[in-house]
Amino acid sequence: MTEYNVERIREDFPILKSKMNGHLLAYLDNAATSQRPNQVIDSVTSFYREYNANVHRGIYSISERATEAYEESKLKVSKFINSESIKEIIYTRNTTESINLVALGKGSECIGKDDHILITMMEHHSNIVPWQLLAKRTKGILDYVGLDTNGSGLDMENVKEMLEKEPKIVSISHVSNILGTINDVKEISKLAHKHGALVVVDGAQSVPHIKIDVKEIKCDFLAFSGHKMLAPSGIGVLYGREEILEEMEPVIGGGDMIRTVGMHDATWNDLPWKFEAGTPNIEGGIGMGAAIDYLGRLGMENIEAYERKLTEHAIAKMKNIPGLRIYGITDGANIGRIGVVSFTIEGIHPHDLASILDNDGIAIRAGHNCAMPLVRQILNNNAVARMSFYIYNTIEEVDRAVESLERAVAIFKRQGG
Ligand code: PMP
Repeated sequence: MTEYNVERIREDFPILKSKMNGHLLAYLDNAATSQRPNQVIDSVTSFYREYNANVHRGIYSISERATEAYEESKLKVSKFINSESIKEIIYTRNTTESINLVALGKGSECIGKDDHILITMMEHHSNIVPWQLLAKRTKGILDYVGLDTNGSGLDMENVKEMLEKEPKIVSISHVSNILGTINDVKEISKLAHKHGALVVVDGAQSVPHIKIDVKEIKCDFLAFSGHKMLAPSGIGVLYGREEILEEMEPVIGGGDMIRTVGMHDATWNDLPWKFEAGTPNIEGGIGMGAAIDYLGRLGMENIEAYERKLTEHAIAKMKNIPGLRIYGITDGANIGRIGVVSFTIEGIHPHDLASILDNDGIAIRAGHNCAMPLVRQILNNNAVARMSFYIYNTIEEVDRAVESLERAVAIFKRQGG
């Protein structure tokens, strides 16, 4: 695609024509979930209308067609993140399940009493709680890397210090869902591997927005969710390096993940099916394939550049609002961050901001946004407001949101609140 034509893209998203509270919907909560284009919706409905059948079982045509479409989507995922083959692509429900699968599988195998697990202060709950559970179960120790003095990135010196404890697992978000910061996962992965750690990357906020190459990052695991990247809800991905997955025992047992079953023992299916017990989310997988086709046609580099423009515009305008504080990188070009912009306005609760914007037809998020340790301890807050952009958002929508925030400031000033 030579020119990024956002109006053309918007035509594919039926929901963007709808109204919220009497205004055209401006959907700025993409870090929570994305909207879906007709191409994805149609791929799911055509599965149900034309070839609904279980996969990996039937010897009849529609089952073969369903299996082919479902498995073909994994090949698309594999190419999208540049993995070696589909053996490395496990379908899960979401990022949360993917990280739990690593913690329950590899984590249980390699963490024992007093072994260290290293995460960071900018993680989403789904990259905290599975490790807390693992540490409690195994009497392991969960350590955190702190933020730098600006509070917008990881303290790389602290990363090095914490690696001296020789953690067995290092699990980090590629992009923070609060700060939008892109962490240098390639460098952290290199350092962690020198200490013999396994590296897990939470790609929930990176894979939908920037080009990802697992061979370049050299991570051992990468977790991400379909619903944040145009695909249906309930389909997620765990990428794992083949050698590691080959060694790892399955976590969930049942149909499809076995080769043979005796009365007291069983042998396992090949990768990736060893980790996919039971009837999978077939329509989700098929929809994931359609979503990746869509993103591929736009080109991830074009998406990244377009979203950067939106983000720079938003930050420049928001900086002029009195009492508004943005969390994360705000100076210079937005190198090192994506379009997730968290903020607070002095004297106005984030929930009030979200309600005022909702009245104007603008959807933003407010709360601890599933990152309580970061929001409470580092940002010293109970809640933040957050705007987050995706491929179909426009400069006009950003301007509408900024105007709405300005109105909120004026209302609260009038009320002396
Ligand atoms: N990690 C990050 C950084 C996220 O932003 C999210 C979703 N907000 C998740 C993990 C969890 O994703 P899911 O709810 O799809 O499992």
